[in-house]
Amino acid sequence: MVVSDTALLTQLAGLSDAAIFGGVLEILAFALGLALFLHLLIDVFVLRGRRRARELAAREHQLAAVAELSSALARAGDRESIARTVLDTLNDLVGFDFSGLVLIGANGKEGRGLIGRAASTDVDWFPSLSLDLENEVSGVRRAFETRAIFMIEDAPGSAEVNAEMVERAGLKSLVFLPLEGERGIVGVLIAGSTSEFRAFRSEQLSLMRMLAAEGTLAIERMDSVSALERGLERERLVAEISRRVRAELDLDRLIDAALAETAKALDVERCFIRLGEPDSVAPLRAEWRREGLKPVTANKTPFLSVSNLALRERKTAAIADVENDPRLEDDSLGGREALLELGSRAVLSAPIILFDSVIGALAAHTSVLRRWSDDDIAFIEAIARELGIALHTAGLIEENKRQLEEQNALLVATEAMTNELELDSVLAQRLAGGRAELIDPSSSRQVMTAAVRQAIALLEGDAALMLELEANELVVRASEGDGLEEMNGRRFPVAVSLAGDLVHSREPLVIEDLARDEGPLGPLDPVAGRGFEALIGVPVIGPDDALSGVLIVYSRRARAWRLKEIEALVTLGANSATALANAALYLRVSLEREQSLAILSSVADGIVAVDRAGQIVLWNAAAGRITGIGSSEALGRPLSEVLRHEIEAPEGAEEERSISIKRGERELWLQVAESVMRDPGGQIAGKIYTLRDVSADRFVEQAKSDFVSSISHELRAPLTSIYGFAETLLRRGDLFDDVQRRTFLSYIASESERLTGIVDALLDVAELDAGDLQVELATIDVGNVVREVVESARSDSASAQGDEHSFLIDLSDEPLSAEADRDKLRRVLVNLVDNAVKFSPSGGTVSVAGQKRSGAIELRVRDEGVGIPEEERERIFRKFYRGSSSVLSGGTGLGLFISRGLVTAMGGRIWVDSVEGEGSAFTLELPFESETAVEE
Ligand code: ADP
Repeated sequence: MVVSDTALLTQLAGLSDAAIFGGVLEILAFALGLALFLHLLIDVFVLRGRRRARELAAREHQLAAVAELSSALARAGDRESIARTVLDTLNDLVGFDFSGLVLIGANGKEGRGLIGRAASTDVDWFPSLSLDLENEVSGVRRAFETRAIFMIEDAPGSAEVNAEMVERAGLKSLVFLPLEGERGIVGVLIAGSTSEFRAFRSEQLSLMRMLAAEGTLAIERMDSVSALERGLERERLVAEISRRVRAELDLDRLIDAALAETAKALDVERCFIRLGEPDSVAPLRAEWRREGLKPVTANKTPFLSVSNLALRERKTAAIADVENDPRLEDDSLGGREALLELGSRAVLSAPIILFDSVIGALAAHTSVLRRWSDDDIAFIEAIARELGIALHTAGLIEENKRQLEEQNALLVATEAMTNELELDSVLAQRLAGGRAELIDPSSSRQVMTAAVRQAIALLEGDAALMLELEANELVVRASEGDGLEEMNGRRFPVAVSLAGDLVHSREPLVIEDLARDEGPLGPLDPVAGRGFEALIGVPVIGPDDALSGVLIVYSRRARAWRLKEIEALVTLGANSATALANAALYLRVSLEREQSLAILSSVADGIVAVDRAGQIVLWNAAAGRITGIGSSEALGRPLSEVLRHEIEAPEGAEEERSISIKRGERELWLQVAESVMRDPGGQIAGKIYTLRDVSADRFVEQAKSDFVSSISHELRAPLTSIYGFAETLLRRGDLFDDVQRRTFLSYIASESERLTGIVDALLDVAELDAGDLQVELATIDVGNVVREVVESARSDSASAQGDEHSFLIDLSDEPLSAEADRDKLRRVLVNLVDNAVKFSPSGGTVSVAGQKRSGAIELRVRDEGVGIPEEERERIFRKFYRGSSSVLSGGTGLGLFISRGLVTAMGGRIWVDSVEGEGSAFTLELPFESETAVEE
C-alpha cells in the first residue's frame, strides 16, 4: 500500500506539472489529489494505528535492550567481551543462530576473526579465521569495500562468500554489515541462520545496524584507550631505554635490560640482539628468553632466517607464520627449521642501523602465530634505534676511556716530573738567590692541606683527613670539613683503627655504608662518632714504595663509590706522596745547602760557582773580601766579566794559575784553581773556582828577585873598590907615597864597613824572620846617640863633593832617658838619617828632634825631600820594598824593615808622615825611663 501511495503521489507530481499547461484538467487533478491525500491520512491515523502501536511496543523493547547493551558495553573490559555482548544481543534480539565479528587490519588487507557466538557460546574456530581482503572473494570483503550491507539468502550455493566459514558454521543465509568507525571500516559483523534459508527484514537490518553502531563505538573506545595505554607504555619503555642508553655506562647491562623490556612489551618468549654486518654470520651478542627455553646456540645463529632477512633487506621483517611465510623459502636466509626447533612460530626483527650502515639486528620470537601490528613494528624499530646509539656511545666511551687512561697515566707522569722540575727550578732559584731565603719548614704540611682539599673537591666528599704514619701510630696532619679541623695532631694506634687497615693492606679501603658494613666503630678510630656513613681511604705510597700515611675522604650519607672515584683518589694519594717526598728532599737539600754555605762563608779562599751557562751562582764571603766585589754585583754575571779578566784557562795551561786583576788602582794577584761540577747524570753542571789572593806572596817573590839583583850590585860595588885598591897597593905599592897609600887603605876600610853594614842588615833580616833578634835593653841617653849619628852624617856630607845638605839637632833640654839597646837604636837612626839625605837629592835641612812625651821618648827625623806617596807609606816598612823614589838611589829595601823590627823589639813603634814633594818625617817612640840618664 505504501508503494501505491507513493506511485499516486508521483503521478500527482507529474499532473501538477501538466496543469501548468492545462485548465480544467488542473482542477480535476487537484480534487483527485485532495481525495487521495485524505485517504492517506485516514490510512495512517486510523487504519494503521493499531499495528503501529504493536510495533512501537516491540520497538521499545528493542530500545531497552540496546540501552542495556550500552551499559553492558560500558562495563566490558576487552574487545572480546564487547564482541560477545553485541553478538549475543544480536542473536537474541534479531533471531540469528550464529554471529561473529571480523576485524579489519590497519592496512586494510586482511580480516581476522575476533569472536564468533552461537547459542551463547564462543565458536572455537572463529578467532583463527583469516581473510585476504585483496586476493580472496568473501562477503566480508564485499561489505568492507562497498561500505554497505550485503545479504545472501543461499550461502552454501554462493561463490561470493568464504566457503570455509560457511561450511564450518553450517550457515544457510547470511548478512554482512560493515562497522564504520572514526577511522573507517574497522570490522564486519556477520550474522546468519543455520536452520533455514531466509531473507532479513528491514527492521531486522536497522536493529542490526543500531547494535553494530553501539559495538563499534565500544570497540573504538576500547581500542583507543588500550592503544593509548599500550602506546604510552611503549613510549615510556623507549624513553626509559633511551635514558639508560645515555646514562648507563655498562653496555652489557643496558642491552640485557633493553632485551627484557622489549620481550615484556611485545609479550614474546625470546628476544635477542645480533651484531655484525649484512651477509656475515652476525653472532649473538645477548639473549633474553622465558624460563625453561633453550638458548640460541652458536651453530643455530646462521639459520636465524628472519633476522638474516632484516639484516639483508635493511628493514624490519615481520613474519606472522614462520611455517608458511613464503619469504622464508629463500634457503640462503637459513630456512625455517632452526626457528621451528626453537619453538618460534612468529618472528619480528628490526635491523640496527648506525650512520647508514647495518651493524646488527634485534629480534623477537613468539611460540604462537602472530600478526605483528604497526605498533609492534614501530616499537621494535625504536628500541633498535636506541640500541644503535648505545652501541655507538659505548664504542665512543671505550675509546674515550682508553684515551682518558692514557691521559691519566701521562698526567701522573708529568705531575711527578713537574714536581721534580719545580723542585729543580726552585732549587736553582734558591741557589741563585744565595742564602737569601731559608726553607719554609711548613711545606710538607702545605702539601697535606692541599691534598685533603683536593680530595674533598675530587669526590665531592664532606670531609677528609691526611694521617702520617709514625712508628705504630697514625697522626692527623691535615684535616678539612665538618668539624674535623680540630683533629690536627691527634694520634691513633694503627693496630685497632679502620685507617690502620689501610696501612697493613696498602689497598684502597672502600666503605659504602659504615653502619651496615662495619658496625659501630671503636673510640680509637679517627672518625668514630662523627656521623659519617661512607668513606674511601687510600694509602699514600711514595716513589720509593714506602708508605708515608693515609688519605681518607668521608661522606655524611651512605654512598656507592664509583671505580673512577677510587682510582682518582689513589692517583691523588700517589701524587701527594711524590709531593711529600719532594718536600722532604727539598728540606734535606736545603739543610745541606745551608751547611755548605756556612762552610763556604768561613773559608779564607774565595769560592765561586758558575752554572752551565757560565753565570755565577755562588760567590762566597771570601770572594767578596778578596776582590772587593759584593755578591749582589757578582751573581748572575759571567766571572770573566766580573773580574774584568779572562778566566778560562788557555789551552794546555796548568790547572792552577795566577792572574792579575785591578782592585781600584792596585794590582791584585789571584791564584785560580778550577774544577768541573757534574750533575748526577754525569753531565757538566758548571764549574767551581777557588780564588786565592797571592799579591803578598807574589810581591815577596818579586822583591826577592829584585833583591838578588840589587844586593849583588850593592855587594859588588864595595867589593870592587876594596879589590881594586888592595891589588893596586900589592902590585904597585912602591909607586905611591905614604899619604896616597893611607888614602887607599882608608877607602878599603870604609868600603869594608859598608859591606859589613849590608851583611849585618841581611843577618838582621834573617834574625827578624827567625824571630830570634836579641836586644840588650839598658837605660840610655837618647840625645847622645842622636848627636853622634848626626855628627857622623854631617862629616860624611862635608867630605862628599857637591853635597848641599845641612843638619839640625833639636833636643829638649831635659835628659831623654829611654829603655833601649844603644847600638840598635843607633842603627835605626843611621838608617833614617841616611834615607833623609838620600831622598832629598837637591839638598835641604835634615833635622833630628827629640823630646819627652807622656810615657815615651819621641825622636823625629825630618827631611825636605821627595816625600812618599800615600799608598806607599805603609809598604815601605815591608821587607825588600823599595819605593818609586828609589829608582835612582838604589838600595836593598831592607832599611825600614829592619828599623821597624828593631824598634818593635825594643818595645817602641815607628811611623811616617809625609807630603809628596815637600818632605817626610819618620817618628819613633821608645819607652820612657824616668831616671836620670846614665852615661856609658
Ligand atoms: P833602602 O835601604 O833601600 O833605602 P828602606 O827600607 O830604608 O830601603 O826604604 C825603603 C823605601 O822607602 C825607599 O826605597 C824609599 O822609596 C822610601 N823612603 C825611605 N825613607 C824615605 C825618605 N826620607 N823620603 C822618601 N822616601 C823614603
